[in-house]
Amino acid sequence: MRYYILTLGCPKNSVDSEGMHSILAAQGHTAVPSSSEADVVIVNTCSFIAAARDETLAVLREMGEQKQPQQHLVAAGCMAESHTALVQAVPGVDATLSTQQWMQIGNVVRQFENGAASGPRPSRSLDIPVIGMSATAPAAPGMIALVGDPVTPEQVQGYADWRTTQIRRTMNGPSAYLKISDGCNLRCAFCTIPSFKGDMRSKPMGAILGEAQELAALGVREIVLVAQHLTDYGRDLKLTDGLATLLDELCQVVPQDTWIRLMYAYPHGITPRLIETMARHPQICKYLDMPLQHAHSDMLRRMRRPPDTERTKATIAALREAMPDLALRSTFIVGYPGETKEEFKALLAFLEAVQIDRVGAFRYSQEPGTHAATLPNQVPAYTTERRWHRLMQTQQPISYERNRRWEGRTITVLVEGKGETEDGQPLLVGRSFRDAPEVDGQVFIWGEAPAGSMIQATITEATAYDLWGELA
Ligand code: SF4
Repeated sequence: MRYYILTLGCPKNSVDSEGMHSILAAQGHTAVPSSSEADVVIVNTCSFIAAARDETLAVLREMGEQKQPQQHLVAAGCMAESHTALVQAVPGVDATLSTQQWMQIGNVVRQFENGAASGPRPSRSLDIPVIGMSATAPAAPGMIALVGDPVTPEQVQGYADWRTTQIRRTMNGPSAYLKISDGCNLRCAFCTIPSFKGDMRSKPMGAILGEAQELAALGVREIVLVAQHLTDYGRDLKLTDGLATLLDELCQVVPQDTWIRLMYAYPHGITPRLIETMARHPQICKYLDMPLQHAHSDMLRRMRRPPDTERTKATIAALREAMPDLALRSTFIVGYPGETKEEFKALLAFLEAVQIDRVGAFRYSQEPGTHAATLPNQVPAYTTERRWHRLMQTQQPISYERNRRWEGRTITVLVEGKGETEDGQPLLVGRSFRDAPEVDGQVFIWGEAPAGSMIQATITEATAYDLWGELA
Protein backbone atom coordinates (compact mmCIF):
# COMPACT_ATOMS: atom_id res chain seq x y z
CA MET A 1 0.00 0.00 0.00
CA ARG A 2 1.05 3.59 -0.46
CA TYR A 3 1.24 5.60 2.73
CA TYR A 4 1.75 9.21 3.74
CA ILE A 5 2.71 10.30 7.26
CA LEU A 6 2.09 13.85 8.44
CA THR A 7 3.88 14.66 11.69
CA LEU A 8 2.63 17.40 14.01
CA GLY A 9 4.29 18.53 17.21
CA CYS A 10 7.70 17.95 18.71
CA PRO A 11 10.83 15.94 17.82
CA LYS A 12 9.62 13.05 19.98
CA ASN A 13 6.75 12.64 17.51
CA SER A 14 9.23 12.75 14.64
CA VAL A 15 11.03 9.79 16.19
CA ASP A 16 7.80 7.79 16.33
CA SER A 17 6.95 8.77 12.75
CA GLU A 18 10.34 7.53 11.62
CA GLY A 19 9.58 4.28 13.40
CA MET A 20 6.26 3.97 11.55
CA HIS A 21 8.02 4.71 8.25
CA SER A 22 10.49 1.96 8.98
CA ILE A 23 7.88 -0.61 9.84
CA LEU A 24 5.78 0.15 6.77
CA ALA A 25 8.78 0.27 4.44
CA ALA A 26 10.05 -3.06 5.81
CA GLN A 27 6.65 -4.60 5.08
CA GLY A 28 6.91 -3.50 1.47
CA HIS A 29 4.63 -0.48 1.61
CA THR A 30 5.64 2.66 -0.27
CA ALA A 31 5.94 6.18 1.06
CA VAL A 32 4.38 8.82 -1.22
CA PRO A 33 4.94 12.56 -1.10
CA SER A 34 1.33 13.68 -0.66
CA SER A 35 -1.84 12.50 1.03
CA SER A 36 -3.77 12.49 -2.26
CA GLU A 37 -1.50 9.73 -3.62
CA ALA A 38 -1.77 7.53 -0.52
CA ASP A 39 -3.92 4.54 0.34
CA VAL A 40 -3.27 5.17 4.02
CA VAL A 41 -2.85 8.63 5.51
CA ILE A 42 -1.34 8.70 9.01
CA VAL A 43 -1.46 11.89 11.07
CA ASN A 44 0.88 11.77 14.06
CA THR A 45 -0.97 14.15 16.37
CA CYS A 46 0.04 16.62 19.06
CA SER A 47 -1.93 17.63 22.14
CA PHE A 48 0.63 19.81 23.89
CA ILE A 49 -1.61 22.87 24.34
CA ALA A 50 -5.00 24.01 23.10
CA ALA A 51 -3.53 25.56 19.93
CA ALA A 52 -1.81 22.29 19.07
CA ARG A 53 -5.05 20.35 19.61
CA ASP A 54 -6.96 22.82 17.42
CA GLU A 55 -4.37 22.35 14.71
CA THR A 56 -4.56 18.57 15.04
CA LEU A 57 -8.34 18.56 14.72
CA ALA A 58 -8.23 20.97 11.78
CA VAL A 59 -5.70 18.76 9.98
CA LEU A 60 -7.72 15.61 10.67
CA ARG A 61 -10.93 17.27 9.47
CA GLU A 62 -9.20 18.45 6.31
CA MET A 63 -7.79 14.98 5.68
CA GLY A 64 -11.19 13.46 6.40
CA GLU A 65 -12.91 15.82 3.95
CA GLN A 66 -10.36 15.16 1.21
CA LYS A 67 -10.47 11.41 1.76
CA GLN A 68 -11.16 9.33 -1.34
CA PRO A 69 -13.40 6.24 -1.20
CA GLN A 70 -10.57 3.68 -0.91
CA GLN A 71 -8.36 5.71 1.39
CA HIS A 72 -7.86 5.08 5.11
CA LEU A 73 -7.09 7.67 7.76
CA VAL A 74 -5.17 6.84 10.94
CA ALA A 75 -4.66 9.24 13.85
CA ALA A 76 -1.61 8.32 15.91
CA GLY A 77 0.29 9.95 18.77
CA CYS A 78 -0.43 12.19 21.72
CA MET A 79 -3.88 13.53 20.92
CA ALA A 80 -5.09 10.15 19.68
CA GLU A 81 -4.21 9.01 23.19
CA SER A 82 -5.22 11.94 25.36
CA HIS A 83 -8.45 12.86 23.53
CA THR A 84 -9.34 9.54 21.92
CA ALA A 85 -13.09 10.12 21.72
CA LEU A 86 -12.67 13.58 20.20
CA VAL A 87 -10.26 12.27 17.57
CA GLN A 88 -12.41 9.25 16.78
CA ALA A 89 -15.38 11.56 16.28
CA VAL A 90 -13.69 13.32 13.34
CA PRO A 91 -15.45 12.05 10.21
CA GLY A 92 -13.17 9.80 8.18
CA VAL A 93 -10.83 8.65 10.96
CA ASP A 94 -10.61 4.86 10.69
CA ALA A 95 -8.17 3.98 13.46
CA THR A 96 -6.34 5.52 16.38
CA LEU A 97 -2.94 4.52 17.77
CA SER A 98 -1.64 5.86 21.06
CA THR A 99 1.97 6.93 21.64
CA GLN A 100 2.63 3.45 22.97
CA GLN A 101 0.94 1.68 20.07
CA TRP A 102 2.49 3.27 17.00
CA MET A 103 4.65 0.18 16.47
CA GLN A 104 1.39 -1.60 15.64
CA ILE A 105 0.97 0.49 12.48
CA GLY A 106 2.03 -2.48 10.33
CA ASN A 107 -0.80 -4.58 11.75
CA VAL A 108 -3.31 -1.80 11.19
CA VAL A 109 -2.28 -1.35 7.55
CA ARG A 110 -2.37 -5.10 7.08
CA GLN A 111 -5.95 -5.09 8.32
CA PHE A 112 -6.77 -2.40 5.76
CA GLU A 113 -5.14 -4.51 3.08
CA ASN A 114 -7.22 -7.48 4.15
CA GLY A 115 -10.37 -5.59 3.49
CA ALA A 116 -11.04 -3.37 6.47
CA ALA A 117 -12.43 -0.66 4.21
CA SER A 118 -12.70 2.90 5.42
CA GLY A 119 -15.83 4.81 6.17
CA PRO A 120 -18.65 4.24 8.66
CA ARG A 121 -18.85 0.59 9.63
CA PRO A 122 -20.34 -1.45 12.39
CA SER A 123 -18.38 -1.50 15.60
CA ARG A 124 -15.63 -4.08 15.46
CA SER A 125 -12.44 -4.96 17.14
CA LEU A 126 -9.26 -6.25 15.51
CA ASP A 127 -6.99 -8.48 17.51
CA ILE A 128 -3.89 -6.37 17.50
CA PRO A 129 -1.67 -6.74 20.56
CA VAL A 130 -0.58 -3.74 22.53
CA ILE A 131 3.00 -3.48 23.66
CA GLY A 132 3.54 -2.49 27.25
CA MET A 133 0.15 -1.10 28.07
CA SER A 134 -3.39 -2.13 28.74
CA ALA A 135 -6.05 -1.81 26.08
CA THR A 136 -7.26 1.61 25.00
CA ALA A 137 -10.69 3.03 25.61
CA PRO A 138 -13.44 1.21 23.73
CA ALA A 139 -13.49 2.16 20.08
CA ALA A 140 -16.21 4.32 18.66
CA PRO A 141 -18.50 2.68 16.11
CA GLY A 142 -16.66 2.11 12.84
CA MET A 143 -13.30 2.46 14.50
CA ILE A 144 -10.51 -0.08 14.61
CA ALA A 145 -9.82 -0.89 18.24
CA LEU A 146 -6.59 -2.31 19.58
CA VAL A 147 -7.05 -4.98 22.18
CA GLY A 148 -4.77 -7.37 24.01
CA ASP A 149 -2.67 -7.95 27.09
CA PRO A 150 0.63 -6.28 27.75
CA VAL A 151 3.88 -7.78 26.46
CA THR A 152 4.17 -11.24 25.01
CA PRO A 153 7.37 -12.74 23.55
CA GLU A 154 6.00 -12.03 20.05
CA GLN A 155 5.56 -8.39 20.94
CA VAL A 156 9.08 -8.20 22.30
CA GLN A 157 10.26 -9.74 19.02
CA GLY A 158 8.08 -7.16 17.25
CA TYR A 159 9.94 -4.42 19.04
CA ALA A 160 13.28 -5.97 18.09
CA ASP A 161 12.16 -6.18 14.46
CA TRP A 162 11.07 -2.59 14.58
CA ARG A 163 14.43 -1.55 15.95
CA THR A 164 16.22 -3.35 13.17
CA THR A 165 14.06 -1.73 10.52
CA GLN A 166 14.35 1.66 12.15
CA ILE A 167 18.09 1.70 11.88
CA ARG A 168 17.91 0.65 8.27
CA ARG A 169 15.74 3.52 7.31
CA THR A 170 16.75 6.06 4.71
CA MET A 171 18.11 9.14 6.40
CA ASN A 172 16.65 12.53 5.61
CA GLY A 173 19.74 14.49 6.49
CA PRO A 174 22.73 14.22 8.75
CA SER A 175 20.79 14.27 12.08
CA ALA A 176 18.63 11.73 13.86
CA TYR A 177 16.62 11.85 17.06
CA LEU A 178 17.04 8.99 19.49
CA LYS A 179 14.39 8.64 22.19
CA ILE A 180 15.88 7.21 25.38
CA SER A 181 12.76 7.14 27.56
CA ASP A 182 9.09 8.02 27.46
CA GLY A 183 6.67 9.29 30.08
CA CYS A 184 7.52 11.41 33.11
CA ASN A 185 7.64 10.88 36.87
CA LEU A 186 7.04 14.54 37.62
CA ARG A 187 3.75 16.33 37.82
CA CYS A 188 4.26 19.95 36.78
CA ALA A 189 0.96 21.72 37.43
CA PHE A 190 0.47 22.95 33.86
CA CYS A 191 1.39 19.75 32.04
CA THR A 192 -0.91 17.05 30.71
CA ILE A 193 1.80 14.71 29.47
CA PRO A 194 2.06 12.40 32.51
CA SER A 195 -1.73 11.99 32.53
CA PHE A 196 -1.64 10.12 29.24
CA LYS A 197 1.97 9.00 28.88
CA GLY A 198 2.28 7.74 32.44
CA ASP A 199 5.45 7.40 34.47
CA MET A 200 8.86 7.39 32.88
CA ARG A 201 10.02 4.16 31.25
CA SER A 202 13.64 4.02 30.14
CA LYS A 203 14.63 2.26 26.97
CA PRO A 204 17.16 -0.47 27.81
CA MET A 205 20.70 0.82 27.49
CA GLY A 206 21.70 -1.96 25.11
CA ALA A 207 18.90 -1.00 22.73
CA ILE A 208 19.99 2.66 22.75
CA LEU A 209 23.62 1.74 22.14
CA GLY A 210 22.62 -0.54 19.27
CA GLU A 211 20.52 2.15 17.63
CA ALA A 212 23.22 4.79 18.07
CA GLN A 213 25.89 2.52 16.63
CA GLU A 214 23.87 1.68 13.59
CA LEU A 215 22.77 5.26 13.05
CA ALA A 216 26.43 6.24 13.05
CA ALA A 217 27.16 3.43 10.60
CA LEU A 218 24.49 4.86 8.30
CA GLY A 219 26.37 8.14 8.22
CA VAL A 220 24.39 10.11 10.77
CA ARG A 221 26.60 12.91 12.06
CA GLU A 222 24.41 14.12 14.92
CA ILE A 223 22.38 12.01 17.36
CA VAL A 224 19.91 14.09 19.35
CA LEU A 225 18.88 12.40 22.59
CA VAL A 226 15.27 13.17 23.50
CA ALA A 227 12.89 12.21 26.28
CA GLN A 228 10.25 13.96 28.32
CA HIS A 229 12.79 14.34 31.08
CA LEU A 230 16.23 13.33 29.87
CA THR A 231 18.05 13.59 33.20
CA ASP A 232 15.75 11.01 34.82
CA TYR A 233 17.04 8.31 32.49
CA GLY A 234 17.61 4.97 34.22
CA ARG A 235 15.75 5.72 37.47
CA ASP A 236 13.33 2.87 36.73
CA LEU A 237 16.30 0.64 35.86
CA LYS A 238 17.72 1.38 39.34
CA LEU A 239 20.68 3.23 37.84
CA THR A 240 22.35 6.06 39.70
CA ASP A 241 23.47 8.84 37.39
CA GLY A 242 21.89 6.85 34.56
CA LEU A 243 22.28 9.56 31.91
CA ALA A 244 25.98 10.01 32.66
CA THR A 245 26.46 6.23 32.50
CA LEU A 246 24.58 6.09 29.21
CA LEU A 247 26.70 8.92 27.76
CA ASP A 248 29.91 7.18 28.78
CA GLU A 249 28.73 4.05 27.02
CA LEU A 250 27.46 5.93 23.96
CA CYS A 251 30.80 7.64 23.52
CA GLN A 252 32.44 4.20 23.32
CA VAL A 253 30.34 3.23 20.31
CA VAL A 254 29.80 6.54 18.51
CA PRO A 255 32.73 7.88 16.42
CA GLN A 256 34.52 10.93 17.77
CA ASP A 257 33.35 13.13 14.93
CA THR A 258 29.65 12.40 15.53
CA TRP A 259 27.77 14.82 17.72
CA ILE A 260 25.61 13.73 20.62
CA ARG A 261 23.16 16.44 21.70
CA LEU A 262 21.11 16.56 24.89
CA MET A 263 17.57 17.95 24.82
CA TYR A 264 15.11 18.42 27.70
CA ALA A 265 17.21 18.25 30.84
CA TYR A 266 15.55 18.95 34.17
CA PRO A 267 17.51 21.50 36.21
CA HIS A 268 17.78 19.43 39.38
CA GLY A 269 18.71 16.31 37.47
CA ILE A 270 22.05 17.81 36.45
CA THR A 271 24.63 16.17 38.68
CA PRO A 272 28.36 16.86 39.03
CA ARG A 273 29.03 13.53 37.32
CA LEU A 274 26.81 14.49 34.37
CA ILE A 275 28.63 17.82 34.01
CA GLU A 276 32.02 16.11 34.17
CA THR A 277 30.89 13.52 31.61
CA MET A 278 29.61 16.16 29.19
CA ALA A 279 32.85 18.09 29.48
CA ARG A 280 35.06 15.03 29.01
CA HIS A 281 33.73 13.58 25.78
CA PRO A 282 34.45 15.37 22.48
CA GLN A 283 31.34 13.80 20.89
CA ILE A 284 28.98 15.47 23.35
CA CYS A 285 27.91 18.92 22.14
CA LYS A 286 28.65 21.59 24.69
CA TYR A 287 24.99 22.43 24.53
CA LEU A 288 22.15 21.87 26.92
CA ASP A 289 18.44 22.42 26.57
CA MET A 290 17.16 22.91 30.10
CA PRO A 291 13.53 24.10 30.27
CA LEU A 292 13.19 26.25 33.41
CA GLN A 293 9.64 27.64 32.93
CA HIS A 294 10.09 30.49 35.44
CA ALA A 295 12.56 32.01 37.88
CA HIS A 296 10.48 33.28 40.80
CA SER A 297 10.32 30.75 43.65
CA ASP A 298 6.63 31.40 44.49
CA MET A 299 5.71 30.95 40.87
CA LEU A 300 7.78 27.78 40.59
CA ARG A 301 6.02 26.40 43.67
CA ARG A 302 2.66 27.08 42.02
CA MET A 303 3.97 25.31 38.95
CA ARG A 304 5.04 22.37 41.15
CA ARG A 305 8.58 22.81 39.92
CA PRO A 306 11.81 23.05 41.95
CA PRO A 307 11.55 26.52 43.50
CA ASP A 308 15.24 26.98 44.27
CA THR A 309 16.45 29.41 41.61
CA GLU A 310 19.73 29.94 43.45
CA ARG A 311 20.46 26.26 43.02
CA THR A 312 19.65 26.53 39.32
CA LYS A 313 22.05 29.46 39.03
CA ALA A 314 24.74 27.43 40.78
CA THR A 315 24.13 24.55 38.34
CA ILE A 316 24.50 26.89 35.38
CA ALA A 317 27.70 28.33 36.87
CA ALA A 318 29.09 24.80 37.34
CA LEU A 319 28.17 23.89 33.75
CA ARG A 320 29.92 26.99 32.44
CA GLU A 321 32.95 26.46 34.60
CA ALA A 322 33.39 22.97 33.18
CA MET A 323 32.42 24.03 29.62
CA PRO A 324 33.14 27.73 29.05
CA ASP A 325 31.60 27.71 25.56
CA LEU A 326 28.46 25.90 26.63
CA ALA A 327 25.36 27.04 24.71
CA LEU A 328 22.41 26.98 27.04
CA ARG A 329 18.84 26.88 25.82
CA SER A 330 15.75 27.24 27.98
CA THR A 331 12.03 27.82 27.73
CA PHE A 332 9.76 29.89 29.96
CA ILE A 333 6.03 30.31 30.44
CA VAL A 334 4.54 33.80 30.75
CA GLY A 335 1.07 34.55 32.07
CA TYR A 336 0.87 31.53 34.37
CA PRO A 337 -2.01 31.87 36.86
CA GLY A 338 -1.33 34.45 39.54
CA GLU A 339 1.82 35.80 37.87
CA THR A 340 2.34 39.18 39.48
CA LYS A 341 4.27 42.10 38.06
CA GLU A 342 7.02 41.42 40.60
CA GLU A 343 7.25 37.76 39.65
CA PHE A 344 7.46 38.64 35.97
CA LYS A 345 10.14 41.24 36.71
CA ALA A 346 12.07 38.58 38.63
CA LEU A 347 11.99 36.43 35.50
CA LEU A 348 13.39 39.28 33.39
CA ALA A 349 16.05 39.96 36.02
CA PHE A 350 16.99 36.28 35.95
CA LEU A 351 17.43 36.42 32.17
CA GLU A 352 19.65 39.49 32.51
CA ALA A 353 21.69 37.85 35.25
CA VAL A 354 22.15 34.40 33.73
CA GLN A 355 22.59 35.36 30.07
CA ILE A 356 21.12 32.23 28.49
CA ASP A 357 22.10 31.78 24.85
CA ARG A 358 18.74 30.69 23.45
CA VAL A 359 15.30 31.28 24.94
CA GLY A 360 11.87 30.16 23.86
CA ALA A 361 8.78 31.64 25.53
CA PHE A 362 5.30 30.15 25.72
CA ARG A 363 2.14 32.02 26.53
CA TYR A 364 0.40 30.07 29.30
CA SER A 365 -2.47 27.99 27.98
CA GLN A 366 -5.19 26.80 30.36
CA GLU A 367 -5.24 23.04 29.88
CA PRO A 368 -8.35 21.22 31.10
CA GLY A 369 -7.50 18.49 33.56
CA THR A 370 -4.38 20.18 34.90
CA HIS A 371 -3.99 21.56 38.40
CA ALA A 372 -2.99 24.92 36.91
CA ALA A 373 -6.34 25.26 35.16
CA THR A 374 -8.06 25.31 38.56
CA LEU A 375 -5.87 28.01 40.05
CA PRO A 376 -7.36 31.42 40.79
CA ASN A 377 -6.14 34.66 39.19
CA GLN A 378 -5.83 33.49 35.61
CA VAL A 379 -3.87 36.22 33.83
CA PRO A 380 -5.76 38.17 31.12
CA ALA A 381 -4.69 37.34 27.57
CA TYR A 382 -3.56 40.90 26.81
CA THR A 383 -1.25 40.91 29.85
CA THR A 384 0.22 37.58 28.82
CA GLU A 385 0.76 38.89 25.31
CA ARG A 386 2.44 42.06 26.56
CA ARG A 387 4.72 40.06 28.85
CA TRP A 388 5.64 37.65 26.06
CA HIS A 389 6.82 40.55 23.89
CA ARG A 390 8.64 42.11 26.83
CA LEU A 391 10.46 38.86 27.53
CA MET A 392 11.48 38.42 23.91
CA GLN A 393 12.68 42.04 23.75
CA THR A 394 14.73 41.48 26.88
CA GLN A 395 16.27 38.30 25.56
CA GLN A 396 17.14 39.46 22.03
CA PRO A 397 20.16 41.59 22.94
CA ILE A 398 21.35 38.84 25.27
CA SER A 399 21.21 36.25 22.48
CA TYR A 400 22.94 38.74 20.19
CA GLU A 401 25.78 39.28 22.68
CA ARG A 402 26.14 35.54 23.23
CA ASN A 403 26.38 35.05 19.45
CA ARG A 404 28.80 37.95 19.04
CA ARG A 405 31.30 36.15 21.23
CA TRP A 406 31.89 33.94 18.21
CA GLU A 407 32.83 36.70 15.79
CA GLY A 408 36.40 36.11 14.63
CA ARG A 409 36.45 32.56 16.00
CA THR A 410 36.45 29.31 14.06
CA ILE A 411 33.69 26.82 14.67
CA THR A 412 32.75 23.40 13.30
CA VAL A 413 29.62 23.47 11.17
CA LEU A 414 27.51 20.51 10.12
CA VAL A 415 26.43 21.34 6.56
CA GLU A 416 22.75 20.69 5.95
CA GLY A 417 22.09 22.38 2.63
CA LYS A 418 23.47 24.67 0.01
CA GLY A 419 22.26 27.29 -2.36
CA GLU A 420 23.40 30.49 -3.93
CA THR A 421 22.68 34.15 -3.64
CA GLU A 422 20.98 36.21 -6.36
CA ASP A 423 24.37 37.16 -7.77
CA GLY A 424 25.38 33.48 -7.99
CA GLN A 425 27.65 33.17 -4.95
CA PRO A 426 27.53 29.72 -3.32
CA LEU A 427 26.17 29.74 0.23
CA LEU A 428 26.11 26.85 2.69
CA VAL A 429 23.55 26.45 5.46
CA GLY A 430 24.39 24.47 8.54
CA ARG A 431 24.47 24.36 12.30
CA SER A 432 27.19 24.46 14.91
CA PHE A 433 27.21 22.58 18.21
CA ARG A 434 25.34 25.62 19.57
CA ASP A 435 22.27 25.02 17.41
CA ALA A 436 19.80 22.20 17.86
CA PRO A 437 17.86 21.22 14.74
CA GLU A 438 14.51 22.91 14.24
CA VAL A 439 14.59 25.14 17.34
CA ASP A 440 17.79 27.19 17.18
CA GLY A 441 19.57 29.35 14.64
CA GLN A 442 21.76 28.44 11.71
CA VAL A 443 25.21 29.21 10.38
CA PHE A 444 25.50 30.60 6.84
CA ILE A 445 28.87 30.20 5.15
CA TRP A 446 30.10 31.52 1.84
CA GLY A 447 31.57 28.59 -0.02
CA GLU A 448 30.89 25.06 -1.17
CA ALA A 449 30.89 21.71 0.64
CA PRO A 450 28.74 18.60 0.47
CA ALA A 451 25.65 18.29 2.67
CA GLY A 452 26.37 16.10 5.68
CA SER A 453 30.00 17.17 5.90
CA MET A 454 31.54 18.95 8.85
CA ILE A 455 33.56 22.00 7.94
CA GLN A 456 35.50 24.69 9.78
CA ALA A 457 34.09 28.19 9.42
CA THR A 458 35.39 31.52 10.63
CA ILE A 459 32.55 33.66 11.90
CA THR A 460 32.43 37.15 10.44
CA GLU A 461 29.06 38.39 11.62
CA ALA A 462 26.46 37.55 14.27
CA THR A 463 22.78 38.34 14.55
CA ALA A 464 20.52 37.55 17.50
CA TYR A 465 19.67 34.21 15.92
CA ASP A 466 22.23 33.21 13.29
CA LEU A 467 25.93 33.37 12.51
CA TRP A 468 27.54 34.22 9.18
CA GLY A 469 31.03 33.22 8.13
CA GLU A 470 33.42 31.91 5.56
CA LEU A 471 35.31 28.66 5.07
CA ALA A 472 38.30 28.62 7.37
S1 SF4 B 1 8.95 17.56 33.51
FE1 SF4 B 1 7.00 18.62 33.91
S2 SF4 B 1 6.60 19.69 31.95
FE2 SF4 B 1 8.10 18.08 31.50
S3 SF4 B 1 6.87 16.29 30.87
FE3 SF4 B 1 7.27 16.08 33.09
S4 SF4 B 1 5.46 16.98 34.05
FE4 SF4 B 1 5.47 17.71 31.92
